[in-house]
Amino acid sequence: MTTKIDFLSHLNPSQRQAVEHFCGPLLVVAGAGSGKTRALTYRIANLILKHRVDPENILAVTFTNKAAREMKDRIQKLFAEQLAMSEHGERFDLLTEYQQSQLKSKVYRIYIKDLWCGTFHSLFSRILRFDIEKYQDDKGRRWNRNFSIFDDSDSQSIVKEIVTKQLNLDDKKFEPRSVRYAISNAKNKGLSPQEFERENPKYWGRVVTEVYNCYQDKLAQNNALDFDDLILIPVKLFQQNEQVLNYWHRKFCHILVDEYQDTNRTQYDLIRLLVTNGEDSKNNWNWSDRSVLVVGDADQSIYSFRMADFTILLEFQEDFGDNLPDDDTRTMVKLEENYRSCENILEAANQLIENNTQRIDKILKPTRGTGEKIYCHKADDEIAEAEFVINQIRTLERQNPEVNWGNFAILYRTNAQSRPFEESLVRTGIPYTIVGGLKFYDRKEIKDVLSYLKAIANPADTLSLLRVINTPRRGIGKATIDALTNAAQQLGTTLWEILIDETSVNTLAGRSAKAVNNFAQMIRKSQEQISTVPVSEVVQQLLEASGYVQDLQNQGTEEADNRIQNVKELYNAVLQFEEENEDVSLGAFLESTSLSSDLDNLKEGQSAVSLMTLHSSKGLEFPVVFLVGLEQGLFPNYRSLDNPTALEEERRLCYVGITRAQERLYLSHARERRLYGSREPAVRSQFLNELPEELLTSAHQMKQTVTKTASVSSGKQQNIQNWQVGDRVLHKSFGIGEITHVFGSGNKVSVAIKFTTLGQKIIDPRVAQLQRV
Ligand code: ATP
Ligand code: MG
Repeated sequence: MTTKIDFLSHLNPSQRQAVEHFCGPLLVVAGAGSGKTRALTYRIANLILKHRVDPENILAVTFTNKAAREMKDRIQKLFAEQLAMSEHGERFDLLTEYQQSQLKSKVYRIYIKDLWCGTFHSLFSRILRFDIEKYQDDKGRRWNRNFSIFDDSDSQSIVKEIVTKQLNLDDKKFEPRSVRYAISNAKNKGLSPQEFERENPKYWGRVVTEVYNCYQDKLAQNNALDFDDLILIPVKLFQQNEQVLNYWHRKFCHILVDEYQDTNRTQYDLIRLLVTNGEDSKNNWNWSDRSVLVVGDADQSIYSFRMADFTILLEFQEDFGDNLPDDDTRTMVKLEENYRSCENILEAANQLIENNTQRIDKILKPTRGTGEKIYCHKADDEIAEAEFVINQIRTLERQNPEVNWGNFAILYRTNAQSRPFEESLVRTGIPYTIVGGLKFYDRKEIKDVLSYLKAIANPADTLSLLRVINTPRRGIGKATIDALTNAAQQLGTTLWEILIDETSVNTLAGRSAKAVNNFAQMIRKSQEQISTVPVSEVVQQLLEASGYVQDLQNQGTEEADNRIQNVKELYNAVLQFEEENEDVSLGAFLESTSLSSDLDNLKEGQSAVSLMTLHSSKGLEFPVVFLVGLEQGLFPNYRSLDNPTALEEERRLCYVGITRAQERLYLSHARERRLYGSREPAVRSQFLNELPEELLTSAHQMKQTVTKTASVSSGKQQNIQNWQVGDRVLHKSFGIGEITHVFGSGNKVSVAIKFTTLGQKIIDPRVAQLQRV
């Protein structure tokens, strides 16, 4: 393969500096949309192609799994382009689609599978799969490599059980949610229960320590880890075991971290340990053929509630550089051109963020045209706001045949704001996707099937076993389960050990004993299979043998049908996983499901409007962005109103939101809003007042659309009827149905209708011209 690296021409000189830097530390700081992520991606390609670094020796940390996948895809494409040059002497884009895909799959086999690219959580859980058996905590608790990963709701229910049942605490004083939050914070700060107690010696701290200890016992008994452990345990393991650290230090010669401003202390500790091999003295560090490159923007630090700390970014040069007089230029690159947003949008973002005191000034020069002004809109209430947004989307879509639904994003401060937008989108039939709604892997039926799989992979995982032991019902009642759990407790063993011990089981009444034995045999059979047949096959057999799908079929409801579809989709996910990955073991599959983040719902190129919180929008870009709910107390949120530090974080969040927009930006707020039940007058956000007035407009075009909406509404006055639950109606395209819910009243009414053929839909009767029949 040629070493003439062609793709460097896609970069500006500063990006090239970051990409071509070979050894030692390098910090890339720059504002939003300046090509940081692009530089990081190209750097990986360059390390491999030009410097012949083995992909195995590279560790690349991204903020979401989706970002990791995109990064791998991009690298794969760059490699395929290079390969085309060397093999065919031709440009990649001139090859046929078939040739392109052949080259890509060749590259995939050679390089991409070996690349360690993912989130902190996915990368370090992978490391734990290798080495967790060498770890024990300060109370001697141990885990094995088949550990389960408990999600937030699992952790929450364990804490609740400890607080209310095991320790019989007053759950008003020790609210399980806040206790769990305290434990999670302790872990994010790297504190074990003992260390936590030392920092919190008063009564509350001592009780939380006790819960923390019981919680760790429960995790260890289930051979399970929570999300925070996936970061904390590697730190402790590296500190405990020099050989383990040394192995990973030698392996990862080149470390890259995107969105470094949102790193927390434990994550920083991991990077630091891997880079320095635990050596504090800079004189002992060896930078030959080694590097660490981090990219970030302190103005986009928005995760302090998860203990992220942007001073870590600011201290990078001090931490890793040798502090020589010329260090600044050697260990830092600034990117100053913005490639994403039109000038007006960029100018607004820059002016807004200048109101923050805690920041380093940056230059961000536009490279695109001035663009349009920023549209600012005041709506009557949240419903009118949603109507305004959806009308704009429809108008833009009609005016421009090139545009697709995927070009639009609606960003809000809290998830609860999505509902009016969803209703409006459903009514108008526009496809949309909610990023960060109920995750696929959080749905009941999916958690059920995954629990079967977790129990197969890790039989010590009692939580999962208990979830499925009588799901679907198979005659193992509560009394039986209690008897088995008690036996396990008394004998100091796991539930699974009891289940497979026929002597214990046979002490149960005849029918229960038979049911338990059948269940244990079924799990055992799958366990035996798992090392010889593909996971997909085991899943298929299990779905049948467990009676899970049959049970749903017997229910015969629409809801049950949906659940069956979801279970089938899970089976598809296994097949896809098997196609795309090197390690196709059950453990690896389960790990990918546990760590799939909210953002993974957003599929590339999907033609649907995206709805998400501002936090989820980090790193993304859209041609048209609607930033909604700009009201005091909502955005900035009420907690920040009398807290200057929190207010600065809200402003950074607003900066992130504004800089997602490429061509058009809309900012909206409402005169009054119903949020969490009560209707309140709303005051426009101070952030709107901080934007330069000359960049804002309340567009003439917008007035037109608003008038149009008004006339649509008034034209359909005759259709404002008193709709009632139970009314049978005729819809022009959907046929006959029955009203099951009525939302709102007067000209704001919408109705849910169950259609005989299509199932439930929410309809605006003014638009749909319903007839009573
Ligand atoms: P954020 O701070 O939001 O994470 P970022 O700094 O990571 O942004 P990227 O997402 O890498 O920025 O780039 C923003 C946009 O600019 C992308 O569409 C990217 O393809 C484009 N871009 C980056 N560098 C260049 C370049 N040198 N020439 C042309 N386009 C570029
Ligand atoms: Mg980025």
